[in-house]
Amino acid sequence: MRRKIIAGNWKMNLGYEEAMELVRAIDLQIPQSLECEVVLFPSYLYLAPIINDFGDSFIEVGAQNCSQYLRGAYTGEVSVLQLRDIGAKYVLIGHSERREYFKENNATLKKKTALAIEHDLTPVFCCGEPLEIRNAGKQQQYVSQQLQESLFDFSTTEFAKIVIAYEPIWAIGTGLNASAAQVHEMHSFIRQTIASEYSTPLAQQVRILYGGSVKPENAKELFSCADVDGGLIGGASLKANDFLSIIESAK
Ligand code: PEP
Repeated sequence: MRRKIIAGNWKMNLGYEEAMELVRAIDLQIPQSLECEVVLFPSYLYLAPIINDFGDSFIEVGAQNCSQYLRGAYTGEVSVLQLRDIGAKYVLIGHSERREYFKENNATLKKKTALAIEHDLTPVFCCGEPLEIRNAGKQQQYVSQQLQESLFDFSTTEFAKIVIAYEPIWAIGTGLNASAAQVHEMHSFIRQTIASEYSTPLAQQVRILYGGSVKPENAKELFSCADVDGGLIGGASLKANDFLSIIESAK
């Protein structure tokens, strides 16, 4: 059985006190009989303080990005080694904002994913199409190419360590989520693609999250679609009550 993941991507939001207060509020009210994993992706700066203060709680943390290099003269970059050293467990790879604003391409994302796997961080690999591709009905080819160029050279053992997040770009931060039918169609397509590239048992094991305007009002419907193993939440993860309600929906 695949354990669901509810993840909060805080992006470049929140001051230090606000961030710590938000984790505290989530930690205090998190249901004790938690059936899903809860992962927070705060700014790099808050990873260590959150791990120090909440290391014993149910909450795991991850970074929103990592360098494609392991160490050396790369000013401003953060290595997977440094993330692992402070106790981070996850790393987002290829969020659409990184692809769009920082021009990260499939080849770069393959390097980052490889480093994460090799150094015991779980990569949450983001994929998803822009609106014009969806309007042209080419979303499956687009996502398939992202997976092909970044992930399908990994061995079965390596691939088994990856979490995939399907995030249609037109649904991110727009308030307009993909419909349950669209989500179901893409998630089952991704799973079938993994099955034909690797094997059905591996495809059945990989967790595929949905991201794009998940809110308390639509979370239950989206998370109950077959092949959806939880969500990557942006805006709604910045409010404790909304995020907690989304966690409840994953039951
Ligand atoms: C995201 O940034 O990954 C995201 C899904 O954002 P939002 O939930 O705000 O659409």
